[in-house]
Amino acid sequence: MKAPAIDYVRPRSLTEAIDLLARSGGEGRVIAGGQSLVAMMNLRVASPGLLIDIARLPELTAATDEGDTVTLGACVTHAAIEDGRIADPSRGLMPRVAATLAYRAIRTRGTVGGSLALSDPAAEWPAVLSALDAEVLVCGPDGRRSIRCAELMTGVFETTLAADEIIEGVRIPRLSAEACWGYLKLCRKAGEFASALAVVVSDRKRSHSRVVLGGLTARRWCCSKHRELSPRMAAKRSGTPLRPISTVQRTGTSTNSSAISIPSLRCAQCNRCCSDCDPPAGQRCPCRG
Ligand SMILES: Cc1cc2nc3c(=O)[nH]c(=O)nc-3n(C[C@H](O)[C@H](O)[C@H](O)COP(=O)(O)OP(=O)(O)OC[C@H]3O[C@@H](n4cnc5c(N)ncnc54)[C@H](O)[C@@H]3O)c2cc1C
Repeated sequence: MKAPAIDYVRPRSLTEAIDLLARSGGEGRVIAGGQSLVAMMNLRVASPGLLIDIARLPELTAATDEGDTVTLGACVTHAAIEDGRIADPSRGLMPRVAATLAYRAIRTRGTVGGSLALSDPAAEWPAVLSALDAEVLVCGPDGRRSIRCAELMTGVFETTLAADEIIEGVRIPRLSAEACWGYLKLCRKAGEFASALAVVVSDRKRSHSRVVLGGLTARRWCCSKHRELSPRMAAKRSGTPLRPISTVQRTGTSTNSSAISIPSLRCAQCNRCCSDCDPPAGQRCPCRG
């Protein structure tokens, strides 16, 4: 199915984009890489009257290295991160993650800002940027504000963003030389969304350590206190058995590992989560709340 006819505009600046969005009376929607939005329009899940194309705005496609932090424009693509075309504050974590995200064709157009705005519970960037303690920089008719990445998502495809706000970028603290990280993505085949994903970042020099689990429940589980990091505590807090992740640990997968394909971990009802979420016949899928 093709998307219905729609008005399209390509503003020349972020200010113009915000103005167009504010004046569209709720009909306007920004489009970045279109990798999710166009599919949603084709399926009639989204029906905006006006598309405001921000993908090529220079202020959204650049990355700025400020020493202690690196700010990525919202329209930096997954491929630019994968290829090392922009500064990496994460000591290799972000390029590794980018390489496991969807397929190369999607990575060349899909953007960090689009992924954060969409807030799919199984998406990589919301989880990884929460683990790195990044801040999402937002711009709207009332000015600028920043939101901790871990606080952006409020539910499945729901965020604290207002309808007339645009993500301008994401400010990521630079990991110290002593920092270490781990990243695991469980999916049936490379290029698919995660059935479950786990990110661990530990940077003693900055007194920062965080574990984020994604894809298991409607909301990511995020923890930054060492005493809460035991699997028992994690299971209690998230309300979700952590079997898929401990299975991977038992196989001896080291930190800094890339995507791992594990068959038959998908929920029969939503085709997203692990088999632990499989509900009895006729009951609502618990992983969708
Ligand atoms: C087959 C397939 C497999 C995929 N696999 C994965 C995967 O494994 N992991 C993963 O993380 N993702 C995956 N994705 C999603 C992909 O990463 C997209 O890049 C991501 O959804 C964002 O797309 P986009 O940047 O093109 O945003 P768009 O599709 O253009 O926009 C998505 C939404 O975000 C809004 N938006 C975009 N930019 C902004 C902004 N700057 N400010 C405010 N709102 C904005 C739009 O209005 C729209 O609502 C997959 C997609 C496909 C089609």
